[in-house]
Amino acid sequence: MNPFSQALLSNDLELIKTFPKSDLHNHASLGSRLSAFESWCGKSLPKPPEKMSALEEMDIYLTEVLAPTLLNRAGFEYSIQAAFEQAFDDGVNTVGMSIDCFFATMFVNIDEFIQTIEGIYHSEGKEIHYLPELGINRAMKADLIESKVMPCLESGYFKAIDLYGVEAENDFMKFKDIYRFAENHNIKRKAHCGEFLGAESIRKTVEALQLQEVQHGITAVQSKEVMTWLQRNNIQLNVCPTSNVRLGRVEKMEMHQARILADKGISITINSDDIMIFDQSVSQEYVNLYKAGVFSGEELDLIRLNGLK
Ligand SMILES: [Zn+2]
Repeated sequence: MNPFSQALLSNDLELIKTFPKSDLHNHASLGSRLSAFESWCGKSLPKPPEKMSALEEMDIYLTEVLAPTLLNRAGFEYSIQAAFEQAFDDGVNTVGMSIDCFFATMFVNIDEFIQTIEGIYHSEGKEIHYLPELGINRAMKADLIESKVMPCLESGYFKAIDLYGVEAENDFMKFKDIYRFAENHNIKRKAHCGEFLGAESIRKTVEALQLQEVQHGITAVQSKEVMTWLQRNNIQLNVCPTSNVRLGRVEKMEMHQARILADKGISITINSDDIMIFDQSVSQEYVNLYKAGVFSGEELDLIRLNGLK
């Protein structure tokens, strides 16, 4: 038995944390524990609902509970710093965490925004391999795309891009130019899809935006054809098990779609999504899948190594 499997079998979380891991689906401003955030802001906050019916329900919690403290410059700087600390503590040495472009509106200009992120990385995360990733909410207004997203990409600092928010059919159209720019400038292209919409939406989004990685993509299991297509085109799915359970995308961990996707030969990785909401580190997610019998220890070790490639 390999050492990672042994650590899972003995349910030794502290030991599991010492193994290098990646977190390639992590929203930086929600990338640390709620308990740490409560300590920082000096007050206790209501917990997110255990089960949420849709992303809209999570958005209500974000807006009502977290945004008043988080959605300002001090909250932003704290959350990025805390996300690096959380990753370091969990043995995550390769992180692809997206920084929402909306936060750029809180800075005098794009240079100051980038220098702030870079300063936090150098003080808190320099031992972590971090690929600066720009996050865009599907609901972002057109004027902000023009005034913030494009200058951020043109700066050359961001090496990856991610799109998220409530999925709607063909809603990727308004982002095609951004993704074309990214493709022409060797910026990694990721987007959330196949979390709420069906399998075909994944293929459409990947083709339209020339994605290299998909955040979630779990509804691919609805179509053997789409799964084969993802496998043949080497599209990686960055899955987040607890997020999927709590947002009702799978009934329980034991039934998580990752098993079927991996059996089809699709490249998958295990990630945290929003630790402040789902309260599970990457190490805990490995434990969750192991305990639920979704994967053996050996299989989880291969998935772990896949994320470090
Ligand atoms: Zn996500």
